[in-house]
Amino acid sequence: MPRAKYIKRIRKTIEQRFWEKVDVKGLLDCWEWTSRSIRGHGYGFICINQKKISAHRLSYEMAYGKIPEGLLVLHSCNNKKCVNPAHLRIGTNQDNADDRMNIRKKRSNRPIPKSRITERQYKKMIATFNYILNNKFLHQISRN
Ligand SMILES: [Zn+2]
Repeated sequence: MPRAKYIKRIRKTIEQRFWEKVDVKGLLDCWEWTSRSIRGHGYGFICINQKKISAHRLSYEMAYGKIPEGLLVLHSCNNKKCVNPAHLRIGTNQDNADDRMNIRKKRSNRPIPKSRITERQYKKMIATFNYILNNKFLHQISRN
């Protein structure tokens, strides 16, 4: 079998396997991972080539591209099961700690905004997302 065809088949399988496990709702809602989670962490994962890949990190990379070395993918919605790319962003450990602190402060008075992006940004993201899903090969995804 020619190599290109082989790769295409694998890619499609990963994407299909991924999205089958996601409860996709409205564009700005949380899309929850419905499959297995990492015990004690709450983050969803998918096994690819015998490696556990964090579902939110895979979702981020499929939508936006590679996660820079040493950085985390943070949830703006504080829902660890969520894999909606619109709710995911890159950050450091410190950003993550700041988020948790802010969330703790906010919990008592008002709800956390679901998304910080504009409709226009979201449309761009969806276009990017579709492009990646349709045209690009998934590069090696780093582990959590
Ligand atoms: Zn979310």
